[in-house]
Amino acid sequence: MKTFKSILEFQKEFSTEEKCREYLEQQRWDGTPACPFCGSINVCRFANGKIFKCREKECRSKFSVTVGTIYENTKIPLTKWFFATYLLAVHSKGISSLQLASFIGVTQKTAWHLNHRIRQMLTSNAPELLEGVVELDETYVGGSESNKHASKRKVKGGTGGKTMVFGAIERGGDVKTKVIAKTDKENINEAIAGFVKPNSIMVTDEHHAYNQVSLSHTHKKVNHKAKEYVRKEGDFAVHTNTLEGFWNLLKKQINGIHHSVSPQHLQRYCNEASFRYNRRKVLQDERFADALANCNGSLKYKDLTKKEESNG
Ligand SMILES: [Zn+2]
Repeated sequence: MKTFKSILEFQKEFSTEEKCREYLEQQRWDGTPACPFCGSINVCRFANGKIFKCREKECRSKFSVTVGTIYENTKIPLTKWFFATYLLAVHSKGISSLQLASFIGVTQKTAWHLNHRIRQMLTSNAPELLEGVVELDETYVGGSESNKHASKRKVKGGTGGKTMVFGAIERGGDVKTKVIAKTDKENINEAIAGFVKPNSIMVTDEHHAYNQVSLSHTHKKVNHKAKEYVRKEGDFAVHTNTLEGFWNLLKKQINGIHHSVSPQHLQRYCNEASFRYNRRKVLQDERFADALANCNGSLKYKDLTKKEESNG
């Protein structure tokens, strides 16, 4: 793994396509190129350094290190991909598509698509459930509706076009988030089951949707309506302030950088904020490597921009 401690060092390490490819080859193949079609390591590299050919008789496939990754079939050079990935994985609030566009010299549309594909890479596949003391809460994010004149608002009253996000955070540990349609018992219980180990100590506010939690976990409630924010029970502090702290980070990112985020893309912004939060103690070269480790797959522009059919 390359080491770098600053944006200048990063740019030096990844200043050419060759350097980026080398890094990707190391990361994907541990430095030993393997045919993505048959798995053989009996391959040769063409003189241009970029293309490989499988020597297996039945295969003979040609491939490059980007086959099957998010970088395959894009016209954007790896140097730009890597720089954008660095900014999203390391920079505390991420970056807007407008700013990224001017940083790397692409159109805003390209930068927007790039950012979303990188956010997809920042999605955690970690199956580990949260345990110990876990704070649960929901919040409303996004929606520029509150800034609009009443006659121009698409959604009248209610949440001002904002979307609900449910979150769970382990004290001293990771956060997990899920965009949900509403805080009813079903949504909340499903999210909790996917996020938290049974028999954990869960802290919530007084919202009735959390009552069910008491059946499978030790459940402590803080009464926000009564302006109670921290209650001491011996040495144990009953509060959801850790999660509040994360919500603040998320909202600063969304309101400060992106101004408005449509509900169909919100989960990816939450994933981006969670990625950085969950690696708050990790050095930047390791964060970057973590982000890149998820580069398999693709996310097409037409899929990103097609009208969603449901509330997904
Ligand atoms: Zn092969």
